[in-house]
Amino acid sequence: MTQRISHWIDGRKTPGTSGRTAPVYNPATGQRTAEVELASGSEVAVAVAKAVAASKEWRHASLSQRSGVLFAFRQLLHERTDELAAIVTAEHGKVLSDAAGEIARGLENVEFAAGVPQLLKGGFSEQASTGVDVYSIRQPLGVVAGITPFNFPVMVPLWMCANAIACGNSFVLKPSEKDPSPSLFLAQLWKDAGLPDGVFTVVQGDKEAVDALLTHADVAAVSFVGSTPIARYIYETGTAAGKRVQALGGAKNHALVLPDADVEMAADAVVSAAYGSAGERCMALSVAVAVGDVAERLVDAIATRLPKLKIGDGTQPDTDIGPLITAAHRDKVAGYIGAGAQQGATVVVDGRQDDVPAGGFFLGTTLMDHVTPEMTVYTDEIFGPVLCVVRAETYEQGLALINDNPYANGTAIFTRDGGAARAFQFDVEVGMVGINVPVPVPVAYYSFGGWKASLFGDSHMYGAEGMNFYTRGKVVTSRWPDPATSAVDLGFPRTR
Ligand code: NAD
Repeated sequence: MTQRISHWIDGRKTPGTSGRTAPVYNPATGQRTAEVELASGSEVAVAVAKAVAASKEWRHASLSQRSGVLFAFRQLLHERTDELAAIVTAEHGKVLSDAAGEIARGLENVEFAAGVPQLLKGGFSEQASTGVDVYSIRQPLGVVAGITPFNFPVMVPLWMCANAIACGNSFVLKPSEKDPSPSLFLAQLWKDAGLPDGVFTVVQGDKEAVDALLTHADVAAVSFVGSTPIARYIYETGTAAGKRVQALGGAKNHALVLPDADVEMAADAVVSAAYGSAGERCMALSVAVAVGDVAERLVDAIATRLPKLKIGDGTQPDTDIGPLITAAHRDKVAGYIGAGAQQGATVVVDGRQDDVPAGGFFLGTTLMDHVTPEMTVYTDEIFGPVLCVVRAETYEQGLALINDNPYANGTAIFTRDGGAARAFQFDVEVGMVGINVPVPVPVAYYSFGGWKASLFGDSHMYGAEGMNFYTRGKVVTSRWPDPATSAVDLGFPRTR
């Protein structure tokens, strides 16, 4: 019998009742390994009702009790990383070390959130007026939802739930239906860590479940990570329903390689960031802008590295790059390579011709040179192992190209010139910037987020902005009775 992947409601696995399911594959073999339940609106309503009840209790848990649960969860996640990584690889396809890497980066968010007693300290002004003190506190929102993409089935949920739960909310996760199992593993760990039932919930599903969350009166806030068209939809629908929404979208991340860069180091960095996880990262570098005479050297250095990368099953220790998520996505990416060639790009290395293992959703690495901004390989987020090189004559031209792009998630400059790097950091209109660092995902005590079409809403994810997003501020003005200062005063209260 096919394995069923169910929901997690009120602290236990809960079989679906909608009758709708979606197939789950092992992308390395192409085999259908399970069916995931797809929640109906009424199943979402049941899950949210349990989450509401749990949030009423959980907001009373002291900061030290919440911190204690986060410490315990962190320890379990650390101890069971290899098990969880294997589950990620089996449904996503990324290599085991990459899966362990995403868990490690997610774990940093748990460590950050364990500091909630410090993070939620408010302000206090004694004697703001005579005999009057003023202080600020931040309180949980109640039930918050997270809707997450397939490409980081552990890290992105942890970006959200660690802070949300630490702040005293209940968290309802709607993971990607393409790799749903890691969410249930996380749910069990939360339970084992002592989190009360109903504080962490998983509803599996597709658009129907998402729409039910977006319009449910008891869901106070929605965090989303995924593609730009869906991010825009989530933001518009969620805010129209009166919710606080942060919706992170897609990307087209440029590396700007200046003529003075160490070409070998830049090539190592660009290859790692373009092809790691088969290019299915929102911070993947998908465009290298080669400035001046560095272009030939850079293209040669990248091209010599590609044949050495081993494409195969992510469970094998010598594999560098696993498969893409689905056969349809693999075919879509391959289609972009054909379109790029037709539109005039030079295909230096053609991944379609690679000898890849049969059965799985594999595609070799592709390098395209002489790409120009009107080509579809440039305008669209491809989300696969394809790197485009655009040639620019000057630094200013390269910078203008990046700033003209509608996406603005991440970017990186490769140079030995500190002045150029400083100017780039100052002038580039992108949310996350690397200086000789190819994948500048901020550490957990900063916040993650792009600009323009890479983020809808005004709040970045995790770090201090995450704590703010999952709480609302209250300011208390307090005066204790002192008969000596008491009098009727009908004027508007002034500070004295
Ligand atoms: P996706 O937008 O297809 O799906 C994301 C989530 O939205 C999933 O849970 C999915 O079930 C749900 N969804 C899909 N279609 C929907 C619809 N019509 N209505 C409501 N919900 C819907 O994204 P994906 O393919 O899972 O992930 C890849 C995308 O995510 C890429 O564009 C990538 O750049 C982006 N991403 C962005 C970041 C970031 O931080 N900016 C991080 C990771 C991934």
